[in-house]
Amino acid sequence: MAFAKMPSVSLSLNVPGFPKSNPVTLQFFNLCLEDLNYFLQANRLSIDLACALQQTDGAGNFFIAPVLATPLSITDMKKVCETFEERHPLGRFVDVDLTDGEGNPVSSGKAKPCFFCHQKPADVCRHENAHDLNELRSFMFSEMEAFCYRRRENRLCRKISSLALKAILYEISLTPKPGLVDKFSNGSHADMNFRPSSILPLLFRPILPIWFVKDLPSLQMTLRKPCPLFGIRVYEWKMPCLPLHKM
Ligand SMILES: [Zn+2]
Repeated sequence: MAFAKMPSVSLSLNVPGFPKSNPVTLQFFNLCLEDLNYFLQANRLSIDLACALQQTDGAGNFFIAPVLATPLSITDMKKVCETFEERHPLGRFVDVDLTDGEGNPVSSGKAKPCFFCHQKPADVCRHENAHDLNELRSFMFSEMEAFCYRRRENRLCRKISSLALKAILYEISLTPKPGLVDKFSNGSHADMNFRPSSILPLLFRPILPIWFVKDLPSLQMTLRKPCPLFGIRVYEWKMPCLPLHKM
């Protein structure tokens, strides 16, 4: 690996007990890795993914990559790593570590709070065996599972809302539509034409995912049925009070 003389950023999970990896931790780890990469880039700390190493072994899930050229000092890089841990919804389960160009760990000396009791530093709880191991693990895995579920739900809703919007725009653009607004005629509508009606659905784009998140269970029931006109079916089902010709 071409890590020599370059600071490196690594990601691992604080999983107490053994085994340290399972399908839930792996899924969570991969989502964290995506989040970390975006966060580092947004904070002018890009990592070299071509030289990255990712593996899962007895010590758990692990990723490390060298830092590309950055204007940040090593202290500022450490602050970026710590900020990621602080801001991530489950950052207390995550270790984002930094090593300098000589391979020495860079530490800010801050003690991390225990993710379970939030009362004492994590190291103190660990040394005192303050919490039941099985309780710790089941708490952690259920939080990770819920995080992964929410992430899948959000992605599904964004995808569905995108398809729904596309279906709406296809319907608006369909020409000819006798009696309705199409590209060449207002049909029976004196108060609107193709241009505003094609723009209006875009105004709903930000709130479509919110509707779908709210009603996702019933939406999933609908989508299990054969649905050749998928996008249009979703539109008709979800927006009965907003027919296009009255928008
Ligand atoms: Zn504790």
